[in-house]
Amino acid sequence: MTAHLVERMQGFGTTIFAEMSALAATTGSVNLGQGFPDTDGPPEVVEAAVAAIRAGDNQYPPGIGIAPLRHAVAEHQERFWGLHHDPDTEVLITAGATEAVAATLLALLEPGDEVVTFEPYYDSYAAGIALAGARRRCVTLTPPDHSFTAEALAAAITPRTRVLLLNSPHNPTGKVFSRTELDLIAAVCVAHDLVAVTDEVYEHLVYDDAVHVPLATLPGMRERTITISSAGKTFSMTGWKTGWVCAPAELVAAVRTVKQFLTYVHGAPFQHAAAAGLRLPDAYFTGLAADLAAKRDLLRAGLTDAGFTAHPSAGTYFLTVDIRPLGESDGLAFCRALPHRCGVVAVPTVVFYDDVAAGAPLVRFMFAKRREVLEEAVDRLRGLA
Ligand code: PMP
Ligand code: GLN
Repeated sequence: MTAHLVERMQGFGTTIFAEMSALAATTGSVNLGQGFPDTDGPPEVVEAAVAAIRAGDNQYPPGIGIAPLRHAVAEHQERFWGLHHDPDTEVLITAGATEAVAATLLALLEPGDEVVTFEPYYDSYAAGIALAGARRRCVTLTPPDHSFTAEALAAAITPRTRVLLLNSPHNPTGKVFSRTELDLIAAVCVAHDLVAVTDEVYEHLVYDDAVHVPLATLPGMRERTITISSAGKTFSMTGWKTGWVCAPAELVAAVRTVKQFLTYVHGAPFQHAAAAGLRLPDAYFTGLAADLAAKRDLLRAGLTDAGFTAHPSAGTYFLTVDIRPLGESDGLAFCRALPHRCGVVAVPTVVFYDDVAAGAPLVRFMFAKRREVLEEAVDRLRGLA
């Protein structure tokens, strides 16, 4: 760790995604670690980006985002979730959900403030909270269904709590928070006057009979919720980094103030492309989910055959396994060895936990790959036992 790095960022090092993708490259492994698909998204979306570049949309767009995308985001929120947002004052375009989360945390938190979130948590949450000089308090989700109790949630709230940060559908577990759980979360936010920040980047990646319910749709929540999403997962273009924030105007203004000094604006051509994507017919969104659900089933069956205990996944790109049936208990060591043992890369879930004992035997595999790639991975894993 470099001595030049500020104290609040010590310990963050290199993200597990970068470490594991590098390991996949050097060992020639099938990379089921970092979450990105191996096929491009819809051609209409690609063509919209190309057309924007050719049309000369290559200079700074407005800081809040181009009007066509802000309108498309507002229409999308109305069309899928019945949420109304004014595209001029209640929508902000960002450099991916990552910037949206970071700008939000930097805008809302004073040093010493606390954020309640669920663990395992997405790694950028811990870093964003630390950058703000704030503290995280985690409610642990317990496998196999990754549930939590009302008591555990209540116990995480203190007089310093300002923000509740929720990710549903949830990375890395694949959990889709139920309406009952969301009611509980909403009641806590209202009772303690918290701002809810919800990361919904997997909003369309929901399978079987699970239903994604945006927290902002619950009574008392529209006025206190910052909803974040991005085009990366919905349009299979994770490298485009086009995200957005929807919230009441005063909250958007706070986030915008910070955002303008992080990236100033986000890439103009990709904004046009995301606008085209958000206006695709319903069949596109349901087709994407059906394709991913089938891939999840393929990988899940293969992992079960290989001897792992696979926990349920009702959304996202990911499913979690317990490695103990294979006589293993240290997920980090297991994932570092796996590429050398059988040429497959996965992510040790423990890095997303404060409660290291809870996360130690869990490993995340990702299934947004072509079927033949998943089949190859499953074949290689079969040799493990
Ligand atoms: N939140 C979660 C839960 C994620 O899994 C990811 C990774 N895609 C992000 C945020 C980051 O999204 P983006 O690439 O749009 O910054
Ligand atoms: N969201 C992706 C994942 O969870 C990774 C993005 C990143 O590399 N930071 O795998």
